[in-house]
Amino acid sequence: MKKILQEFIISAALFFCIFFVTLQVDWMKLFRLRPTIVGDKLSEWVWKVAESSLWKVNNHDVCVPIDSLVYEMCKANDISMADIHVVINQDNEVNAFATVGNHLIINTALIKKMENESQLCAVIAHEMAHLRLGHIQSAVRQQAVITVFLVLVTGNGNSEMLANMTSKIISNSITRAKENEADEQGARYMYAMHLDPMEMANTLETFESYGILSYLMDHADSKKRAERIRKMHFQKNGPYRRILSQETWDKLKKACQ
Ligand SMILES: [Zn+2]
Repeated sequence: MKKILQEFIISAALFFCIFFVTLQVDWMKLFRLRPTIVGDKLSEWVWKVAESSLWKVNNHDVCVPIDSLVYEMCKANDISMADIHVVINQDNEVNAFATVGNHLIINTALIKKMENESQLCAVIAHEMAHLRLGHIQSAVRQQAVITVFLVLVTGNGNSEMLANMTSKIISNSITRAKENEADEQGARYMYAMHLDPMEMANTLETFESYGILSYLMDHADSKKRAERIRKMHFQKNGPYRRILSQETWDKLKKACQ
């Protein structure tokens, strides 16, 4: 009995080691494979399933101001609006995330929680940076390999279950180094649009308990990340502006109640 237990523990440990190591390596990059058809197909498939679980908001009072903020950010940073697909999702979880197909999902509960437009822009900028820096694409490439591995090991081809798992692992495979990169790039995006880039640091600290801006966030981590932003050197380009009028901001918040 003891031997069986021992063997079971060793097998389980081995399985998780292999699984963990597989997650850490960008196999497609390692073997110089192009992320063409495999990644594209997987992205399409994951998005289809993810999209079906979203409650898209079409309210004018919500979509127009968010569009204005995204438009200003794209314009100031030379990003094509056509490359970023923003979806406002009716959801009680305070969260926003970047996902496959250049989609940026913002939950209504997050908008409700934000105290001003700079905080909201900090969240959008961080997620937009994940998209622009290719963090999601590289996670999809990794995931393409893992999904094949899972199908082979489990013999389970249940597409919905796999796609759900895939989208979760894509989120979780964003490393601390990539979070730092997204914070810094996001702060630069804010600076370019004449918003205070230090709001990125403030937002990280203010909302740390919600885990916004990271799937790995803990107290020490968010403090360190805020410090990194505060050490970044930005030349003065103030006074900082406001994009939305107070009335538009109030309407946006009210529509997300
Ligand atoms: Zn992030």
